[in-house]
Amino acid sequence: MLRIALQSKGRLNEQSLELLESIGIKMDDPKRKFLTKAKNFDIEGLLVRDDDIPQIVSSGTAALGIVGLNEVAEREAEVYIVCKLGFGGCRISLAIPKSENYEGLSWFEGKRIATSYPVILAKFLKENGIKAKIEVITGSVEIAPAAGIADAIFDIVSSGSTLVSNGLKEVERVFESEAVLIANKEMSEEDKEVLDEIVFRIDSYKTSKGKKYLLMNLPESALEEAIKILPAMRSPTLLPLASKGWYSLHSVVDESSLWDKVRALKAIGAEGILVIDLDKIIL
Ligand code: ATP
Ligand code: ZN
Repeated sequence: MLRIALQSKGRLNEQSLELLESIGIKMDDPKRKFLTKAKNFDIEGLLVRDDDIPQIVSSGTAALGIVGLNEVAEREAEVYIVCKLGFGGCRISLAIPKSENYEGLSWFEGKRIATSYPVILAKFLKENGIKAKIEVITGSVEIAPAAGIADAIFDIVSSGSTLVSNGLKEVERVFESEAVLIANKEMSEEDKEVLDEIVFRIDSYKTSKGKKYLLMNLPESALEEAIKILPAMRSPTLLPLASKGWYSLHSVVDESSLWDKVRALKAIGAEGILVIDLDKIIL
């Protein structure tokens, strides 16, 4: 049975399980079990620390895994990155004390940099011809400058508020990360088929994300204008209503432009506008 490694707790746990659920793979009691089977899909979940996931997948202990791209890069894991998953976004950045004058990467020459990501940092420094000392710290990297352990840090940033509260400023964004689906490089044919099905479902889920299904009634005179306002996968669906001269128009729109479209449609005479959540789009 195909096995997928997931973070047991922490930032990616819930969203990984939610993503699987949204594509019809519901794990049985993932909070309490280390190894759990899906209720309605031939797959089992292995719940572990995120740091271990790249190796678990590269060794084949699990054929698939969901983990931050940062962990895959740091562990230099030999795995396929199948697709990005659109959550767990963050970056790894260089940050220095706020009071320092920063004019470029040469600032780091000869400095001590604290980090939990020595591999990614060493690669970046080498590429840029900077010689600095890397101090490996696990845990609260951001306190290293104040504690006198380092001159700068290389750490995960999402909003930047942790940096500010430690008197630091972000000066170089080095690595962009988000959660990714990874796969073992030597999967069996059988496992590959399951992976194809999972990727197909993830794609349809991603396509539907941020989109709404819109339907409304329109007088015949407004149809031409409405079709211009509402692009659709082919063209909007049009159905005649029982009352003569009126139509029901259906379309899919991006949530970001929803309210502009609704306003424009009302202005040309649309009535009874319904906005409906979309679950999947199969193109
Ligand atoms: P574990 O106990 O599984 O080892 P952890 O404490 O190492 O967990 P988390 O803090 O749960 O890890 O972060 C997991 C992943 O979430 C990170 O590797 C990164 O890809 C992503 N992430 C997104 N935003 C942040 C953030 N602000 N801080 C840390 N990680 C983040
Ligand atoms: Zn971890």
